[in-house]
Amino acid sequence: MGAPGSGKGTQAQRLVSQFGIPQISTGDILRKHRKDGTELGKRADAIMAKGLLVDDATMLDIIRDRVAQPDARQGFILDGFPRTQPQAEGLSTLMRELGTPIDSVVLFDVGVEELVRRISGRRTCSLCNKVFNIYSAPPASPATDCVAGSSEHQLFQRKDDEEATVTERLRVYEQNTRPVLSYYSDAGLLRTVSAEGSLEQITQRVLAALKDEAPVSAKPAAARPARAKAVRKPAPKRRKAPAKKKAVARKVVRRKAAKPARKAARPAAAKRRATRKARPAVRKVARKTRRVRRKSKRG
Ligand code: AMP
Repeated sequence: MGAPGSGKGTQAQRLVSQFGIPQISTGDILRKHRKDGTELGKRADAIMAKGLLVDDATMLDIIRDRVAQPDARQGFILDGFPRTQPQAEGLSTLMRELGTPIDSVVLFDVGVEELVRRISGRRTCSLCNKVFNIYSAPPASPATDCVAGSSEHQLFQRKDDEEATVTERLRVYEQNTRPVLSYYSDAGLLRTVSAEGSLEQITQRVLAALKDEAPVSAKPAAARPARAKAVRKPAPKRRKAPAKKKAVARKVVRRKAAKPARKAARPAAAKRRATRKARPAVRKVARKTRRVRRKSKRG
């Protein structure tokens, strides 16, 4: 994934030789249709010239046919696809049907100024389809490495790399493709690579990102703090509810226990009250007894 000019195609070509699996570039497939003058090519021509996107159903049909071909059995590198949310969801469904999950989604991160410089310098060889940049990655000199060293590259500038179309393609990327990134980061598949620097540096970063399997399981939680919180939020409520019940139950128990205690206390108080009431009588008896003793002593 990445904006136009972020170097997806160039790096995908380098990964082809590294992994021995094909690069599936939807842009290249459409350009081939256009060159061959097919019905699809004619339809796509006007859309591509304006920097807009070909419809999702057509793109998904193209991908379904292409990944079913024998050279893609061991895997493939998608380049320029998916570019919209429906394409990403359609791809997930297709991969599920085929039983081949997506391993990684690599995002090529490049600043806008650099993007414009790259796109305006981009040239493609009409014979071997290799992509060059007249500023940063021109063909080797002497330029005889085209078609197994038999001729010079025949470079041309893509029509949609002309300035007016580039601006529109960048806008379309921001509007349609950037939102798809969160779909893959939520799935823990997205690896962002700084795509500025030499071609070799970027290739090394991509390879390191592809090897980086550990964060796959760690990333989803980190990438979804809001969701993680949302999941955790109801838990304390559930924990509080039984706690309240217990507290109420304890109170009830205490009250129940207190009632017989109070009942038990009542007779004791009554006794005390009775004793208090009885005291003057006891004192009277004591006084009488003392008087009788004194009289008998005198007598
Ligand atoms: P690219 O070479 O990948 O930059 O693609 C060139 C043009 O082909 C784009 O500007 C679109 O018009 C069209 N295209 C390529 N891939 C897609 C896709 N996945 N969905 C819709 N349109 C596409």
